[in-house]
Formats: sequence, structure tokens, C-alpha cells
Amino acid sequence: MGIRTVEEYKESLRDGRRVYIRGSKVEDITRHPVLGVSVNTVAQGFALTSHPDLEVRNLFTAPHPETGELINRYFVTPRNPEDLANRTKMIQRSIELTGGLPFGKDIGTDCLNAAFVVAGRMGNKQYQENARNFLEYVRKKDLAMCGAVTCVKGDRSKEPSKQKHPDYYLHVVDKNKDGIVVKGAKIHITSAPVSNEIIVVPTRQMRENEGDYAVSFAIPSNTKGVVFICRAGRGEWTEHEFHPDRPIRELTEAMIVFDNVFVPWERVFLCGEWQFSMLLAYTFATFHRFTAISYKVPAVEVMAGIAVAMAEYNGLDKVGHIRNKLAEIAGYVETLRALANASAKDPVMYGDIAVPNPLITNMAKLHFASKYHEIMKLVQDICGGIIATTPDKKDWENPDIHDYLEHYLGGSDKFSTEERLRMIHLAQRMACSHESAFHEVTTVHAEGSMATQMMMIMAEAPFKKYKTMARVAAGIKV
Ligand SMILES: Cc1cc2nc3c(=O)[nH]c(=O)nc-3n(C[C@H](O)[C@H](O)[C@H](O)COP(=O)(O)OP(=O)(O)OC[C@H]3O[C@@H](n4cnc5c(N)ncnc54)[C@H](O)[C@@H]3O)c2cc1C
Repeated sequence: MGIRTVEEYKESLRDGRRVYIRGSKVEDITRHPVLGVSVNTVAQGFALTSHPDLEVRNLFTAPHPETGELINRYFVTPRNPEDLANRTKMIQRSIELTGGLPFGKDIGTDCLNAAFVVAGRMGNKQYQENARNFLEYVRKKDLAMCGAVTCVKGDRSKEPSKQKHPDYYLHVVDKNKDGIVVKGAKIHITSAPVSNEIIVVPTRQMRENEGDYAVSFAIPSNTKGVVFICRAGRGEWTEHEFHPDRPIRELTEAMIVFDNVFVPWERVFLCGEWQFSMLLAYTFATFHRFTAISYKVPAVEVMAGIAVAMAEYNGLDKVGHIRNKLAEIAGYVETLRALANASAKDPVMYGDIAVPNPLITNMAKLHFASKYHEIMKLVQDICGGIIATTPDKKDWENPDIHDYLEHYLGGSDKFSTEERLRMIHLAQRMACSHESAFHEVTTVHAEGSMATQMMMIMAEAPFKKYKTMARVAAGIKV
């Protein structure tokens, strides 16, 4: 099959999976007002691989490295800087073309690429073969996947084996000749309810007595015992919003409960080798933060664009303090872009797999997360209080009051009132809404909290070299 259509993808989701949202079980997620939006967002990834424009098709598809059959390019295991740069290009172009993030393969392949690295490092032929067979399977069937890494974790100060009950971290509860049985819950998992496969990776380093928690595998989303409990989400545009012509794009996160789920051995990538849990979590985090910094560039470009546009609409684009703030915003965006590009150009090779540069990737993610709220403050400042109090689209369309709004809500006479109002509505969504608060929290936590990036920077930065340079400069013999 190789490349699926949007309809084939949607049909594949009607498979008896157990999905709950707002307290109700959903029989057909493709028709649900919130989950349907998520389905349509991920479906855009399938639309891109059969896009009418050849340049787009060539970006999102690639020949299978051995057979030459057309496959989705996300299923190309990165071997060099060019493969990594292509991932960034795909992520950024998909946002540009679809207006959203069709996250159907990105996080899953971040997990799978990490599983390949670890199986190779371990020299475990069986796990290598399992990962290879699984990759061939998803390539052939063109499946959507989510990456389930974050456990619910209970008391954060305690290790998995010291928790009140054993299930705060996903673990193996039984093994037999056919496979393993796992129990636990993964949380905040992006696109989980609309994926075909779930790939599980340990959330942290495990210790010698925690072998049952050192487990990684892949299973279909409709496997017995798997339950998705989804966040509420916003659903389609409302009639009160000015919005672009295309539908809203949104992904739904879910808690995935694994209620004594059976996993056949051929789908297992790690089971008991606690010494490798750290490498797996670490390598996943590097791949995943690289995915993150790729999609964050267009997101902050839009924020910067709002600031530039609103400065102009308000007639303030030549004012000193506004220009200083715009320069600060531009510096934030361009530093992120430069770091994202640099992390692809200078990968670390694990065998023949190119892992994005861990130091630069973590610096980029930390830069993004630690300064986002400051930049948001500048955008809010430039836009003015109108982004909190704006009249809505229905007000604009009501003939009783339309002329008042037209008359009083204009800004610079170079632009129409409607143009200004449309930008105000975008600014409200991005900087003064439930949605913008969601993005702020996502910035801090998704792809790991800031402390985890600092830990990885501490592990990767060349401190010894810095010290040698200082000793030489001080005239101390080295
Ligand atoms: C929108 C969104 C999408 C996401 N998508 C995915 C996904 O697709 N797949 C996935 O696996 N995960 C996903 N995540 C989860 C994300 O990786 C976690 O939110 C992140 O790792 C933080 O974990 P937590 O939310 O449990 O916060 P907590 O672990 O509770 O962290 C709260 C604070 O406590 C600190 N802390 C926690 N434990 C310790 C400790 N032992 N010692 C010192 N400090 C500690 C943290 O650094 C942080 O400052 C997503 C999250 C969000 C918000």
C-alpha cells in the first residue's frame, strides 16, 4: 500500500477503540465535534502525500531505501544532516500548507528512531529485528502513530519502585512464551486517540530493581485493555470569531490507560534491560525536542507577525520603544531558527543513525520555553487592551451597531477597520485566550520541562574545554 488516502486513514479509525471525552464514550471519533477536528488535522498529513503539487509530494514522500516503493518520508530513518533537515522542512511546510500540525508520524518516529539507536547500542539482534519489522509494517500500511512516554508518575520525589502503588509508572506484570502483559497509564499523549499505533518508551532512567519498568513496545490502538481519556479541546470555529477560510486545526491529547494489555514479543523493543532505559529516554528526548524546535519556528513567526502588524495598524511602527520590542521579538525567533538549523547540521552518529545534536537541540528548546512568556508579554503590550475586550464577529455583522464599530475601531488610515479587527481576533486567540494559555503551558512542559533541558545541557556542554581555556588564559599550567 505505501501511501494511504485521507479516507483510508479515517476508515481505519473505526476499529472499536475505547475513547472517552467529556464523560462519554465515542463510537465514531471521525464524527465527534472535538475529536473529528483532530482526525481532520492528522488527515492533512495524508493529503500532503498525494498533493497535486509535485514539489510538495516529493517533500512528503520518499523512495523506500531498499525496494524503491513510495513511502512517507517520516519513515526514512535519518542517516545524515540532510535527512534531519528534511524532517524540519516537512514539519514547517505542513504548517504552512495546512494551517496546523498534522502530528501523525512525527512523535512515533521519534520513539522508533530512539529504539533503533538503543537496540544497536545493546547489540540485541532480536530487538533490532523487531524494530525493523515494525518499521516495515508501518511503512507498508502508512500508519499514524503516537509516542507514549510520560507516565502519570505519582509522587515525583519517589522512584517507580517506591511509589504508593506499582502502577504510577507503566510496567510489566506478566510474561509468557508469547509476550508480556503491561499495566499503567501514560498521560498528555498528543494525537493518541486518532493514531493507529501507540509506541511506548520509558519516561525516565530505571534502576536495577526496576527492570519491569524498563519496557518499550508498539501496539495497535484498538488492543484489548487500552483506554483513551481525552482532553476536552475547542472544536470547530464559532460564528463569533473572525478566522481564516480553512477549518480549525487542533490535536487532542489523551491519557492512555493500559489495563493489563498483552504485547506479543515481536512488538517489544526493550524489556528488563534497565541499564538502557536512560539511553532510550535520552535519545527519544533529543529526537523529540528536535521535532519540537522545528514546529515552534513557524509558531513564533506568527506571534512576531502579529506584533509587526498590530504596530502598523495602531500607527506605532516608527515609535522607539515599539521598535526595540520588535527587535527583541525578532531576535528570539531568529535565534530559535538558527539553533534548529544548527542541530540538524551537526548530528551525533550512533552507528548509521544521525541523532540531532543533543547540546544544540536542548539549548534551542530551552531558549524557546524560557523566553516565550516574556515575548508574549511584548506582543500583548504592542497589541493593546483591545485583544482582551474586542467585540466579536456577530457584533460586526449586526447592522444596529456595525457602523459604530467601523467608525470607532479604526487605527492607522492605511488599513481598513475590518483588517485591524481580524488581526485583533488572531492576537486574542494567540495571546489572550484559553487557547493561548494552553500554548503557554505546552511551551513549558511539552517535550519535557525546562529542568530536563538543563540536565541535558549540563551533560553535553564541553565544561572541561572551557576550564582549560581559562587556565591557559590565567597562565596556569595544564
Ligand atoms: C500539550 C502537551 C502535549 C504533550 N505531548 C506528549 C506526548 O505526545 N507524549 C508524551 O509522552 N508526553 C507528552 N507530553 C508530556 C510532557 O512531556 C510532560 O508534560 C513533561 O515531561 C512534564 O511532565 P509532567 O507534566 O508530568 O510535569 P511534572 O513532572 O509534574 O513537572 C512539574 C515540575 O516538577 C519538576 N519535577 C518533576 N519531577 C521532578 C523530580 N523528580 N525532581 C525535581 N524536579 C521534578 C519538573 O521539572 C517541573 O518543573 C505533553 C505535554 C503537553 C502539555
